[in-house]
Amino acid sequence: MKRRIGIYGSTGSIGTQALEVIANHQDLFEVTVLAANNNSNLLIQQAMVCKPDSVVIRDPDHYDKVFNALDTLDIKVFTGSESLCQLMEMDLFDMVLIAMVGFEGLKPTMSAVSAGKAVALANKEVLVVAGEIVTDLAKVKKVPFIPVDSEHSAIFQCLSGEVSKPEKVYLTSSGGPFRGMTRDEMLNVNVQQALKHPNWSMGRKISIDSATMMNKGFEVIEAKWLFSLTPTQIDILVHPQCIVHSMVQFRDGTLKAQLGLPDMKLPIQYALSYPYRLDANFGRVDFADMHSLTFEAPDRNAFPCIDLAYGAIEQGGNMPCILNAANEIAVSQFLCGKIRFYQIPLIIERCMVKADFDKKPEYEVLLETNKRVRSMATDFCTSIH
Ligand code: MG
Repeated sequence: MKRRIGIYGSTGSIGTQALEVIANHQDLFEVTVLAANNNSNLLIQQAMVCKPDSVVIRDPDHYDKVFNALDTLDIKVFTGSESLCQLMEMDLFDMVLIAMVGFEGLKPTMSAVSAGKAVALANKEVLVVAGEIVTDLAKVKKVPFIPVDSEHSAIFQCLSGEVSKPEKVYLTSSGGPFRGMTRDEMLNVNVQQALKHPNWSMGRKISIDSATMMNKGFEVIEAKWLFSLTPTQIDILVHPQCIVHSMVQFRDGTLKAQLGLPDMKLPIQYALSYPYRLDANFGRVDFADMHSLTFEAPDRNAFPCIDLAYGAIEQGGNMPCILNAANEIAVSQFLCGKIRFYQIPLIIERCMVKADFDKKPEYEVLLETNKRVRSMATDFCTSIH
């Protein structure tokens, strides 16, 4: 029996790499649903190759184009955000890879868990915004919830077979394109420089999050919920070689680490095949050729987003949701040239001070918080000059 896979966010960086992994293991996997936001050309191309049962093009403006292109094939075409959730309730796949960008991934993830589908999660914002609600629901529904983020996959692999809880985890970070620079030196960096990540090839939004190191801050929050840790049990280490993908320390002082070359296909494949490991033609680490592996504490002055994220998770409630909404807007405004790089944390901090705080938010409160803070952050971006 092949494992049937749905891919939400199939045209993004993670989605396309997942399709490569699946193409290498066609005896084991079958893609039955592909969902994309608005990249209709690539979605059509992917659907022609994979022949899924259904595709979703979320943006209704692209529906006719996709429908007409796939008309002669036996593939159902849906559109709109609601259909993303409705397909979760049907018996179309055994596991769904959530690889969408930002807050948009929350509703489909909640639907997947509610419907009892195994989830491979690449969309970290889902856990930043609603980590407690999502992980509680996954426990109640007893659904496997497997991280795809390379650091969390590393921790997940290190914990495999352990019955003792970790004492501490170390999330490693490349340090991003601006590692070693001071705050002043970053005053005039532009979009091109911020997008140029030294080790990983990723989408635009997460590349900017890596440059500000908000990505690592989000990963602290993600780790808290995935592995039931307190923020003080989670440390960040800058490790520019990107060979150690994260480490777990136990009560006896033992450390376990997961190592490998930086290639997202590795954690993607592990999530899809879990609990098994499959053959892979990814490169292998050559220790003889490697001069050193280095580790250092991150520069929290140069990268204020780290402390903003720790502050948000310590306050809890809807504060991480406020953090995320403000960040999504600030990053998109930076990408289109409306604000400067150093202003991203300023916008976020202002939203964290001004937005209404709720200590124990229900799901609906999070939806409302997201909406309000996005509009608040948009206003701040306009008035910051
Ligand atoms: Mg990561």
